[in-house]
Amino acid sequence: MQRYELFIDNKFTAPLSGEYLPVTNPATQTAFAEVPNASLADVDRVVASSRAAFEGEWSEWRAADRAAFLIDFGRAIGEHAEELAQLQVDENGKLIREMVGQAKLFPEYFNYYAGLAQAPTGTTNAVHLKAMLNYTVREPLGVVAAITPWNSPLLLLVWKLGPALAAGNTVIAKPSEVTPISTLRFAEIAAETGLPEGVFNVITGYGNPSGTALTTHPDVAKIAFTGSTSTGQAIMSAAGKSLKSVSLELGGKSPNIVFEDADLEVAMNGLVAGIFGASGQTCMAGSRILVQESIYDRVVEELGRRADAIKVGDPQKETTEMGTIASPQQYEKVLEYIEIAKNEGARLVAGGRSETVEGMERGLFVRPTVFADVDNSMQIAQEEVFGPIASVIKFTDEADAIRIANDSQFGLAAGVWTGNPQRSHRVASKLRAGTVWINNYRKTGYATSFGGYKQSGVGRENGADALREYTEEKSVWVDMGQGVKDPFNPRA
Ligand code: NDP
Repeated sequence: MQRYELFIDNKFTAPLSGEYLPVTNPATQTAFAEVPNASLADVDRVVASSRAAFEGEWSEWRAADRAAFLIDFGRAIGEHAEELAQLQVDENGKLIREMVGQAKLFPEYFNYYAGLAQAPTGTTNAVHLKAMLNYTVREPLGVVAAITPWNSPLLLLVWKLGPALAAGNTVIAKPSEVTPISTLRFAEIAAETGLPEGVFNVITGYGNPSGTALTTHPDVAKIAFTGSTSTGQAIMSAAGKSLKSVSLELGGKSPNIVFEDADLEVAMNGLVAGIFGASGQTCMAGSRILVQESIYDRVVEELGRRADAIKVGDPQKETTEMGTIASPQQYEKVLEYIEIAKNEGARLVAGGRSETVEGMERGLFVRPTVFADVDNSMQIAQEEVFGPIASVIKFTDEADAIRIANDSQFGLAAGVWTGNPQRSHRVASKLRAGTVWINNYRKTGYATSFGGYKQSGVGRENGADALREYTEEKSVWVDMGQGVKDPFNPRA
């Protein structure tokens, strides 16, 4: 079993706590590594390093230097794509084919933010006084804590790291204790690519104490978080005490809406991708499938058939279509929701049970599950499961579809399947969601924003505006002959 350490000042560093946690492969439930369980003293040490780095050599780097680093880092990450993908599969049981695909795109994320690092960000402003120049500049916030979950540990880190470093911040990553190793390796590659000491540190351990300590630490300027809505709420409250900036990408119960005029063959693929991709363990899972009544029975039957045909198994095999659930806690939660749905009167059409995979008998596998006759008021339609469970809900017309879609505490994403372009945009405009996919699903990218309405989050990741989330604006007034004419009237 390999032992890892905290990554501070470009070095693996033993924790002051002296404590370690096992990291377990969910496909076999065997522990294959251990990482530090950081203490409050470790958090203090890592924040001190990041703060010193923010004020040190890094602050002298020009935007062009940061851009050059991001490009080099992206290239290095690309060269290690297979290794980084493999580490994530070992940690969370997602498919190797999805993880490799993700990792191969990381260089483009860093290239994009390398470009934006040098883009003009300030303004000059026509103020009300004649002989005054006013301009604004955007400056880095300081130490950013990136607290990330286990479902796509590196992708969700890249979304934070790219804009944070482009803007000149230093970053402390706190990965989930389920998936810490890929993040540690990521930081090691950053160090090898020439990042100064302390610019990118990694602290491992449980959300409490290491995550909570970051959210209250006076020298942490911002928390960039992806995870559950309840933890997001706790983070926002904790960060509020010192008025830290926060961006929160939280849970969802996204509606994937199929109208009777949709191309059903294409839509069916989109429904499967929406809820069974990544075993449904994505914030944007299309877990509420809304189907117009005239095609309802047909879609339910076809979805059930497709769910039954999905190959669940070894995530390392290229032919596997669904890997494991990432942790025993999550596995229990998914099975519990299957019981909840049955007790609520939803009709089980496919799955509804765990799966035993030959050679991986202890693996955390669940069959893709479809429930029909779900009412939107049921728990299975209102609460995030984060697993491969589709709830299929009937609607009558467009207004009914919009009403049901928006009847949720969440507002992360939505899909609209229709052959009518006018309807597609009309419905998109009415949906209270941060992302709407028209005749596609589960697409994200560096060039456009991602984030949630309502309890799905605060702020946006990706896109050009993400840089604003990692900077403060400063307004500078320059006298060009105005003078201080009347000391008691600043307008003069
Ligand atoms: P959490 O939201 O609790 O965990 C996400 C990250 O936050 C982890 O690094 C965790 O650390 C850390 N953390 C936990 N509590 C705190 C805290 N009080 N302050 C600071 N950091 C904290 O998710 P879980 O892993 O517990 O999963 C629970 C549910 O969350 C899932 O079933 C799913 O519904 C949802 N979820 C949503 C995700 C999304 O992408 N929106 C991603 C993952 C989960 P640690 O894990 O080490 O305790």
